[in-house]
Amino acid sequence: MDTIIKKVMDSPEDETVYEQASQIIREGGLVAFPTETVYGLGADGMNAEAAAKIYAAKGRPSDNPLILHIADKEGLAQITDKVPPKAEALMKAFWPGPLTMIFEKKKEVPYGTTGGLDTVAVRMPSHPVARALIRKSGTPIAAPSANTSGRPSPTKAEHVREDMNGKIDMLIDGGSVGIGLESTIMDMTVEPPMLLRPGYITREMLEQTIGEIRIDPSLMEGVGEGVKPKAPGMKYRHYAPKAELTIVEGELERVAEEINRLAQEKQEQGHSTGIIATEETKAFYKEAQVRVIGTRQDEETIARHLFAVLREFDESGTEYIFSEAFSEENLGQAIMNRLVKAAGHHIIRV
Ligand code: AMP
Ligand code: MG
Repeated sequence: MDTIIKKVMDSPEDETVYEQASQIIREGGLVAFPTETVYGLGADGMNAEAAAKIYAAKGRPSDNPLILHIADKEGLAQITDKVPPKAEALMKAFWPGPLTMIFEKKKEVPYGTTGGLDTVAVRMPSHPVARALIRKSGTPIAAPSANTSGRPSPTKAEHVREDMNGKIDMLIDGGSVGIGLESTIMDMTVEPPMLLRPGYITREMLEQTIGEIRIDPSLMEGVGEGVKPKAPGMKYRHYAPKAELTIVEGELERVAEEINRLAQEKQEQGHSTGIIATEETKAFYKEAQVRVIGTRQDEETIARHLFAVLREFDESGTEYIFSEAFSEENLGQAIMNRLVKAAGHHIIRV
């Protein structure tokens, strides 16, 4: 299939793009679109056949449920009729925005979008392109990240093209996304509510709004074969570059020393290497290998560039990547969660 690629630029002509895209959604096709977190791969969330196409295009295991995206409260009423008071409070504080909540599903929501679960994940994105597409389509849009399953999530239209060209009907190019990490996921069907995936809305922000929350114990650890994790997506290898990625954690100068030593060792064996560092630490490394991911003064810059940097290493055929670790406070929890998974939990402490 030929993938239609259309740019939107906040002009009146965008209307014809949304017209075409929403028609594809209503007819059961696939449209990739930007959200404030990462690019999503969308289909009609109330149509099991359409949702099945998402799994096929991504190569995603069918027990890994999708998030339904809505533009307004009416959308929520189509999906669930059990909204606990704490969910109302979180909605008021963070919707539209990068927070996904899990509810008991109505019977109208097909098991094909929930991976067979009786619960459903819902998010109201704030990105104007996502909102326009959902509104115009008139249905909740099921959308996981628009990458091939297991690869780093797409933060630019170009990343989606790399993975999905020829496999989806349309890609709406709305430029680079703002946040760069997937949404925070909260299970609101349990008490106290449980954080299943850290994201831009941090644990600290959630607790300020609804008090005590629990953190899924498997969050930072690996989930073994045969275990049924709360967020089914957590059991799969995720966000991974083609290279072998190692995280080195500790005092920054010692970290740099160890990374230089490890990189040199691999080079002497004839391998290509790359290093992920920050503005604060780049001077410790050889310029040719190092990618500056952002500044430690502003974690948002690190979040925004993480997946793109991993993809750049793929492009250049790097075989071994070494990354500094980041603080696990606030947004750092989400950054380290993705990085640790991308590294297949391969961490060295110095
Ligand atoms: P992605 O769309 O790639 O960001 O992945 C969506 C994430 O939401 C996956 O980790 C899913 O496991 C999680 N998710 C979606 N629906 C549910 C649900 N009903 N219960 C628990 N986790 C869910
Ligand atoms: Mg994903």
